[in-house]
Amino acid sequence: MDSHSSVLVTGGAGFIGSHLCEFLLGKGHKVIAVDNLFTGRKENIQHLLANPKFRFVPHDIIDPLYLHEGIEQIYNLACPAAPLHYQFNAIRTIKANTMGVINILGLAKLNKARILQASTSEIYGDPLEHPQKETYKGNVNPIGIRACYDEGKRVAETLMFDYNRQHCVEIRVARIFNTYGPRVAQNDGRVISNFILQALKGEPITVYGDGMQTRSFCYVSDMVEGLYKLMNSDTTGPINLGNPDELAILEIARKITSLTKSQSKIIFMPLPADDPYKRKPDITLAKEKLGWAPKVDLDTGLKQTIDYFREQLVQK
Ligand code: NAD
Ligand code: UDP
Repeated sequence: MDSHSSVLVTGGAGFIGSHLCEFLLGKGHKVIAVDNLFTGRKENIQHLLANPKFRFVPHDIIDPLYLHEGIEQIYNLACPAAPLHYQFNAIRTIKANTMGVINILGLAKLNKARILQASTSEIYGDPLEHPQKETYKGNVNPIGIRACYDEGKRVAETLMFDYNRQHCVEIRVARIFNTYGPRVAQNDGRVISNFILQALKGEPITVYGDGMQTRSFCYVSDMVEGLYKLMNSDTTGPINLGNPDELAILEIARKITSLTKSQSKIIFMPLPADDPYKRKPDITLAKEKLGWAPKVDLDTGLKQTIDYFREQLVQK
C-alpha cells in the first residue's frame, strides 16, 4: 500500500484509535476517523483536525456506513472497552460487535479494503491455560455481565472469518491485551487510570478483591505499532498483541503509589463478577510473524501516563 492511500479508523476518537490516527498520518496516509463519541472525545483528535489529510466522520457503526472513496485499509476499533462503559448499555455493546462489525465488513467489501478487527484477550475469559496462546479456545461465561463484550468480540472474530471464506474480504484479527497510556478518559474506570487519578488526588486506591489477580499491561505506542505491523503483514491472525510482563493488581497499586509519591491508602472492595483471575499473553506468534515485541517497560509507560493525568487535573 502506498503512503498516500486512505485508511479508515473506527473508534478513531478513542484512546487507542486517536494514537493510531496520529501514527498513520505520520506515515503519510490520508486518515478518516469514524466515531460516535460515546467513550471517545473530540479533544483526543483536536490537534489532527487542521491536517488536510485527516477527516472526522461522526457516525455510529450500528448504522450502515457508505463511503466509496478508495479506502484501502480499515481498522475496526469502535466499541467501548472498559467494563463500566460496555456494561452501561450491554445491548448496544452487542450491537456494535455484531451489527456494527457486519456494517464495517460491508464497507470493506464495497471498497475492496483490508480490515483489521480489534479483538481482545477477553475472548479467553477466565483462562484455564496460562499464558494464553492463540490456540486456546477460552473459558467464557455466555450469560454473565462481561458477555456483551467478550462473547460479542468472539462473534466479531467469527464474522471476520466468515466474510473472508464467503466474500474473500481480506482480514486481520488482533487479540489486544490490557493497554494503557495518555488519553484514557478520566471516567474510564479501568485499573491504571483509576489508580493514578486516585493517587494524584490523595483518594483511597480501590483494589477489587484481594488484589492477587494479575494482568499484563502494554503501553499504547507499542500497541499501535503492533496493529500497524499486523495490518501490513501477510498474517491473518488471530494474533496476540500485549506485553507479557505480568503483575498482581496489588503490586500495580503499590507501584503507582510509589511513582506518584502519594499518601493514598489502599482499600479493598468487592471483586466484580467474572473478573478473570490471571492474564498474560504468549506473544511467540507476534514475534515470529510480525517481528514485533513491546519496547516500553511498565515504569517508563506509567511515568508518561502519570504526567498526562497530572496535566489533565491542572487543566480542570
Ligand atoms: P475507547 O473506549 O477509548 O475507544 C473506543 C472508541 O469507539 C471510542 O472513541 C468510542 O466513542 C467509539 N465507539 C464506541 N461504540 C461505537 C459505535 N457504536 N460507533 C462508533 N464509534 C463507537 O477504548 P480503547 O481502549 O481505545 O479500545 C479500542 C478498541 O480496542 C476496542 O475495540 C476495544 O475493544 C479494543 N481493546 C482495547 C483494550 C485496552 O486495554 N484498551 C484491550 C482489548 C481490546
Ligand atoms: N480493578 C481494581 N480496581 C479498580 C479497577 C479495576 O482492582 O479501580 C481490577 C479489576 O477488578 C481487574 C483488574 O483490575 O481485576 C483490571 O481491570 P480493568 O477494568 O482495568 O480491565 P479488565 O478486567 O477488563 O482486564
